[in-house]
Amino acid sequence: MSESTARVAIVTGAARGIGAATALRLAADGLAVAVVDLDEGSTAATVQAVQAAGGRALGVGADVGDAEQVQAAVDRVAAELGPPVVLVNNAGVTRDNMLFKMTDADWDLVMHVHLRGSFLMTRACQRFMVEVGWGRVVNLSSTSALGNRGQANYATAKAGLQGFTKTLALELGKFGVTANAIAPGFIQTEMTRATAERIGRDWEEYVAERAAAIPVARAGVPEDIAHTVSFLVSEGAGFVSGQVVYVAGGPRT
Ligand code: NAP
Repeated sequence: MSESTARVAIVTGAARGIGAATALRLAADGLAVAVVDLDEGSTAATVQAVQAAGGRALGVGADVGDAEQVQAAVDRVAAELGPPVVLVNNAGVTRDNMLFKMTDADWDLVMHVHLRGSFLMTRACQRFMVEVGWGRVVNLSSTSALGNRGQANYATAKAGLQGFTKTLALELGKFGVTANAIAPGFIQTEMTRATAERIGRDWEEYVAERAAAIPVARAGVPEDIAHTVSFLVSEGAGFVSGQVVYVAGGPRT
């Protein structure tokens, strides 16, 4: 595809981790990519990596849970890259704690980023997809949606995203738009590194222990998720919608 006809994707939380790997992969697949994260400066490394690989990228700063910032970000992407018809709702935070110690702020922030963020971003982007009669939404859920100690907030948000995904699939399908969720298992990123630090575990030991409980006998890497996003947003995946794909190295053990 030439620059002017390349489809435009927005990947949120793409400064690092799964979002960065996804932005790189979608660019390699031929899409122009908007790299959205809280602070525009933090997107520079991903934008440069995409450009160094010959792709087209734009860094945009926005809090996905803030309606005004979301609208401004999506308008800017449409003006500078083109209408966004692929959206990957990946931005995320954890504020883990056992229920009796979880604060209102821990609960609210996790809902703000995952649920409100995905809602606002999708609402702002869907009109571009509906207008051209083609679109792809991928939401990042988690195996934690099945329940996870110390994650009442995160598990609730990630389960909520599965309901959101299925509803998008029902409402937008007739406009050529598919919506799917990916539920990763343990992936090595800053997010899981921070968890290891918080519970006082050595990172290498923690990864080895987690890997030992995974059927394919290794921990996941961001590229494992990027590969699945690439499939779900591809032309040929147009009959796959409303699904939750667990990318976790096997069923839960
Ligand atoms: P990560 O390394 O922590 O990256 C998340 C990115 O999201 C960060 O750059 C963060 O920016 C950004 N972000 C946070 N709040 C935001 C907001 N309000 N607006 C815009 N951007 C925001 O996380 P990851 O491990 O790559 O995870 C990516 C997604 O996969 C998340 O939704 C996560 O819940 C999900 N997931 C991860 C795993 C795993 O094992 N890693 C497993 C299952 C699901 P700051 O650095 O500025 O906060």
